[in-house]
Amino acid sequence: MGSADCLFCKIVAGEIPSSKVYEDDECFAFDDITPQAPTHILIVPRRHINSTDTAGEADKDLLGHLLLTAAAIARDKGFADDGYRIVINTNADGGQTVFHLHVHLLAGRPFIFPPG
Ligand code: AMP
Ligand code: ZN
Repeated sequence: MGSADCLFCKIVAGEIPSSKVYEDDECFAFDDITPQAPTHILIVPRRHINSTDTAGEADKDLLGHLLLTAAAIARDKGFADDGYRIVINTNADGGQTVFHLHVHLLAGRPFIFPPG
């Protein structure tokens, strides 16, 4: 899927509304529309990357930034000490449905491991 047809590119561009949680030059974070926990935030790079499967060496800093942003949001919102779950789904067996790489940040309840 090209970025022109991409749901999350449209959210980043403001063409589709979202409940914004955080933004900076590199990424955009918003509430998941179908939350799987009391807090369920998606953190996406502004620049379109399909998935971890297509990410490369050039994306290394950006991928690190997404994880550190998740941690910073958790700290800011006050649930870091209780804990949280970071999830990245990749391709069909991983359960990926939107092919613009995104980090799920889930909190507000305990999570089992391994995930289903
Ligand atoms: P994944 O299954 O890992 O690709 O995650 C895609 C996520 O995007 C799901 O958790 C959906 O609930 C979420 N989602 C889909 N459409 C929207 C939307 N318009 N706004 C916010 N979240 C969305
Ligand atoms: Zn995109």
